[in-house]
Amino acid sequence: MSDNILKLIPTTPHYKPGATAIQKACDLLSSYFSEAGEISYSLTEEVCFIDQGENWERVLCPACGIELDTAWWQQAMDTAYQTGFTDLSVNLPCCGVVSSLNDLRYELPAGFARFVLEIRNPDGDIGDDELRSLEQILGCGLRKIWAHY
Ligand SMILES: [Zn+2]
Repeated sequence: MSDNILKLIPTTPHYKPGATAIQKACDLLSSYFSEAGEISYSLTEEVCFIDQGENWERVLCPACGIELDTAWWQQAMDTAYQTGFTDLSVNLPCCGVVSSLNDLRYELPAGFARFVLEIRNPDGDIGDDELRSLEQILGCGLRKIWAHY
């Protein structure tokens, strides 16, 4: 038994939408995915890593495009975790560019957030226009994460 979950997170990790906006966004999502499984959201005090499950392939440097060593990434995650993910900054080992763990090129996409909207086993993708409507309601840009477990 496996699940595909479409996760939508704010492009800014610390962003927290208001309760009314969240309710409106969930209602709108329900209208997009009427036949699909459950729609839910989570809101946490601290920033969390929002993973893509088995859809993890690799992570690339956003500046020079080189594939980053998983051990380096794990170490950077441990360091950031000790700050409660309030400090996501990293010094890239390949080209020395200062970036953020949230801005690395995850393949497939992943990210950091306090707020996540989830659609479990959706019957299709969400369209660009639909995504923009949600962004307007929530007052933030959204990143799509397709997770498989
Ligand atoms: Zn690089």
